[in-house]
Amino acid sequence: MKTVHVKTGRSYDILIGHDILKNAGEYIRPLTKAIRAVIVSDSNVSVLYADTVKKTLTEHGFDTSVFVFPAGEENKRLGTIEKMYTHFYEHNLTRTDIVVALGGGVTGDMAGFAAASYLRGIDFVQIPTSLLSQVDSSVGGKTGVDLPTGKNLVGAFWQPILVLIDPETLNTLPDTFFRDGLGEVVKYGCIKSEALFERLERENAKDFIDDLIYECVSIKRDVVEHDERDTGERAILNFGHTFGHALEKLNDYSGMTHGEAVAAGSMILTRISEAKGMTEKGSSERLQNLLKKYGLPTDGNYPLEDILAATRGDKKSTGKSINFVFLKKIGECFLQKVPIGEFGAFFGE
Ligand code: MG
Repeated sequence: MKTVHVKTGRSYDILIGHDILKNAGEYIRPLTKAIRAVIVSDSNVSVLYADTVKKTLTEHGFDTSVFVFPAGEENKRLGTIEKMYTHFYEHNLTRTDIVVALGGGVTGDMAGFAAASYLRGIDFVQIPTSLLSQVDSSVGGKTGVDLPTGKNLVGAFWQPILVLIDPETLNTLPDTFFRDGLGEVVKYGCIKSEALFERLERENAKDFIDDLIYECVSIKRDVVEHDERDTGERAILNFGHTFGHALEKLNDYSGMTHGEAVAAGSMILTRISEAKGMTEKGSSERLQNLLKKYGLPTDGNYPLEDILAATRGDKKSTGKSINFVFLKKIGECFLQKVPIGEFGAFFGE
């Protein structure tokens, strides 16, 4: 088992190990005096793992119930949170009890937000089951829901008391979701670790999955510890995301997964920055080869002008700037603001 310790406003451990899911109660018990626990899970994941987690929690003295919501980003909304609160109330959760998020990013974001706000905040545990949530969204304490007007517009910074990552859960993950997570994995290599990038080039990601999760989580931990509230350095985690979000929007949030959009976004940006002499020569070719190796897109299939228009979005004032993350080289990045009014000239539209 590997442990990553996170020192934020409230410190906690991330445990990575095979079969820790079925022993979850053993790891959670010493951290809380809770009598009751509610497991929050979606309709896909609950079928696979809710019984296992409920059993181990019960064995360790938690009066446990399970709240299940229909799977899908379209259910990441306040209506689902309200149903969660009702379930918490009916299960008599008090301020000293706990919520356990069991599932992917949508589940973690929502269960975390419900925990952050119910009775003005109760403890919660993250048990991420998708690669994307294991390497990215379960670490860092961002929780929230979407509004009809945009993603993640309501939420809170709320750190878990423990994160349990069991790589065995990835064996039940369809390939498309594995690729989704790899988009973020490649990002970590690009911005902070040439060693990770090289290993992804040399070996197959699935063959060193424990190390891979450990490396990504450690990188995110380092960044988040310096900037818990996302006012500075944490922005580097958005590498590939600005154009990525534009591509997700152009695809109506259904044609491309988040990880695929991030991959394509990072590729488009790096091609341009290398041509402008901002990025070491050869970087975009290496990135392209790696993305291809893992079946990730290297293009957005939209003209640059459409991507730039979607990036500008409804930001009417062209005096405003967007903070982009560029690669200096593979493993090293920097932030640079580009005024919206200068997009055309800067990106060579
Ligand atoms: Mg992301």
